[in-house]
Amino acid sequence: MGLGECLIGAAEARNVARVLRHQSLFRYYGVGTRPSLGYVRRLEQQFARLHRVKYALGVSSGTAALEVALGALGVGPGDEVILPVWSWVSCFTAIVRMGAKPVLAEIDDSLSLDPAEIDRLTTPATRGILVVHYQGVAADMDPILQHARRHKLWVLEDCAESLGASYHGRLVGTLGKIASYSFQQRKVISSGEGGMVVTADGRLYERAVRMSDIGLYRDEHRAARPSEVVSFAGGNYRLGEMAGAVACAQLARVRPMIRHLRRLRAIMQQKVGQIPGLVWRRVPDPKGDLGFDSYFFLPTHAQALALKERALARGVGLAPHTGTYCQFAREYCQSGATHAPQFSPFAGISPWPAAGYREQDFPRTTDLVGRMVSVPLGALFTAADAAHVGRVIREELPPLLA
Ligand SMILES: *Cc1c(COP(=O)(O)O)cnc(C)c1O
Repeated sequence: MGLGECLIGAAEARNVARVLRHQSLFRYYGVGTRPSLGYVRRLEQQFARLHRVKYALGVSSGTAALEVALGALGVGPGDEVILPVWSWVSCFTAIVRMGAKPVLAEIDDSLSLDPAEIDRLTTPATRGILVVHYQGVAADMDPILQHARRHKLWVLEDCAESLGASYHGRLVGTLGKIASYSFQQRKVISSGEGGMVVTADGRLYERAVRMSDIGLYRDEHRAARPSEVVSFAGGNYRLGEMAGAVACAQLARVRPMIRHLRRLRAIMQQKVGQIPGLVWRRVPDPKGDLGFDSYFFLPTHAQALALKERALARGVGLAPHTGTYCQFAREYCQSGATHAPQFSPFAGISPWPAAGYREQDFPRTTDLVGRMVSVPLGALFTAADAAHVGRVIREELPPLLA
């Protein structure tokens, strides 16, 4: 049921073998003064070309990409960032690690940020919005960008789950100020670990490079854009050549894989057909989604659970490709703790968890995710597999809704 991970093959092996033979595992140089083979740089160039955006920076993970992007944006203590309560761990923890306060928002029936939440949650401390394009579907960016513009907020797009998805003809990651991607094992493409930061803003690019490379801005980057930013204390979030070599080969697989997944999704949905009571996830731009996880809502939580059980008994798992939970269900949110207590954006808020960090504060999200069922399709599925999944739903669901 996997995506790019299942397609790892000869091209990835060839690239990795070249890196090893050349003894150049570091992106900036190999043994002695020998240059590296430049797989990470090539990956960045291909990524930028694919997205028609000026700058792409390889980093060590999707979490690193979020921290680098937030660092580039200058997020720190006293700042607030709005994000959907239904999102991956790092979306919350990356903000906390910058010393800023994550402000949780409800999602809507697109399973991404409800744009109306931006007006409700913006305060004088709000700096920006972290949008998550959840599981292969672009969030509804037009209203999100409108609200953001009105409040003078930036938008950071987390594209970790949606590389290649588009919104009205533009790839996700090119609509906001800056974007992050992940190449972890379970993502659209995989290099085990790895990530990317994408932006059209040269100053943000330089700050991202410095954030990711201990404050440095090496010649390779200066060639892309002369320096205009003073060096500051960065971390090390660099991407290595081994992962870069794998990701380069994986990136070439994205377009055919998406075509295949969309075809499978159409077959599956056609087999499911119209079932009164089944409501598909709203896809803000139905032309642009990836199709590997299709979600629908049933009238009740109990019906959703029962369907998953019955499908599983017939060998069809209806668990999504992601382990996403509501942030309030996670331990770090319930504790509000940080690596050093004086660094906590929640210090002095008592009692904790405060309003905005508890289950009862998100009735709409809790209701939606309780009633939802995901239909995962994988890169190695055949048309017959997709048809089988659709048929099982077609056969098992109507009696549950009667
Ligand atoms: C996976 C994921 C991340 C983190 O990526 P890693 O490479 O695992 O650090 C961030 N955001 C979202 C939405 C994700 O799904």
